[in-house]
Amino acid sequence: MRLRTKILLSYLAVAIISLVVIFASTSFVAPRNFAHRMEMMMKHDTETEHGQGQGRGMMGGGGGSNAPTDEEINQRFRDALNESLLWASAAAITASLLISGFVTWRITRPINAMVAASQRIADGHYTERLPKHARDEIGDLIHSFNQMAESLQQTESMRQQLIADVTHELKTPLTTIMGMMEGLEDGVMAANPATYHLVHQEADRLRRLVQDLQELSRIEGGQIALNLRSHTPTELVKFATDRLAPQFADKNIALHVNLPPTLPCVHADLERTGQVLMNLLGNALQYTPAEGRVEVSAQPVDHQVRFAIKDSGVGLTEANLTKIFQRFYRVDKSRSRASGGSGIGLTIARHLVESQGGTIWAESDGPNLGSTFYFTLPIA
Ligand code: ADP
Repeated sequence: MRLRTKILLSYLAVAIISLVVIFASTSFVAPRNFAHRMEMMMKHDTETEHGQGQGRGMMGGGGGSNAPTDEEINQRFRDALNESLLWASAAAITASLLISGFVTWRITRPINAMVAASQRIADGHYTERLPKHARDEIGDLIHSFNQMAESLQQTESMRQQLIADVTHELKTPLTTIMGMMEGLEDGVMAANPATYHLVHQEADRLRRLVQDLQELSRIEGGQIALNLRSHTPTELVKFATDRLAPQFADKNIALHVNLPPTLPCVHADLERTGQVLMNLLGNALQYTPAEGRVEVSAQPVDHQVRFAIKDSGVGLTEANLTKIFQRFYRVDKSRSRASGGSGIGLTIARHLVESQGGTIWAESDGPNLGSTFYFTLPIA
């Protein structure tokens, strides 16, 4: 039952109890009280009559009648009624206090618990949760509160994980640079162009990592402005293939583009989609051995165009298909690091595709059977 209904019902209960008490009092208590008062008055008059040898009628000077006057009866009636109403009011007030006290307690108890829990969360205890409550407005509030605590806990653990990951990623090239510099100082390593090249390579890895992190933080913080316009899929694919074609030729990997001329235009940011395609094509180039083959294709599916980048490379296991889109996740850490990969590229690609209203995923028949990366963009 909703809280609104419960409060209304409690008011109604208070009103009904008050009416019942007053009705019972005027129907049962007041008549008996009145009868009792009349009896007492008659008794008192009789005693006075016997004691003093004169009756009410004699006192009043009229006709010797012992009957009470109308005024006296009215007075006794008013007294009896007032007294019973007094008792009825006391009973009704007590009942109202009990009911409203109970209702108030039921409302304030979870609110006080929520205040205490939010203070504990503010102190850094992110595991704090409130027990479930009946399905009313307060129950809904507690449910939202617990959801908020859950997402705060997730954000906090992601923050801690990010710091741990970044520290780890920075440590490796820094340790290598430190080792080489010490080797140079001690004369263990020769001060020749090959050594300088190794130091330069590690420094370059650090630079790329910092660049990727900056880019990721800007994208995750919603700080990139998208220039969404209508583009042909050919235009988007050409943006990436033109830039990467020489590298494919260098590694002797065949790059095929297969785009039907009837494809509809998509609503996308040319540079950002180009960045996604370059990342996917760059990965395909990296994880496909020489003499391999990479194909870019696209086809309309529902209200979207689905792009596919299919390679004949190292492939992926079922377990890795979703993990590779997570920050810093690399299947083969040493191989990826050796080629300068930080494991952020696909995370950035996922954010860029999703911010343009699309989705991105990967499929593979297994290790060494190649992989296909798909992403969709809305039709313009
Ligand atoms: P990286 O900079 O390490 O390439 P990404 O985020 O681009 O980072 O990719 C994450 C991981 O996904 C890579 O380390 C690699 O293990 C895997 N991966 C990406 N593309 C492919 C591909 N075409 N074939 C096989 N594995 C891939």
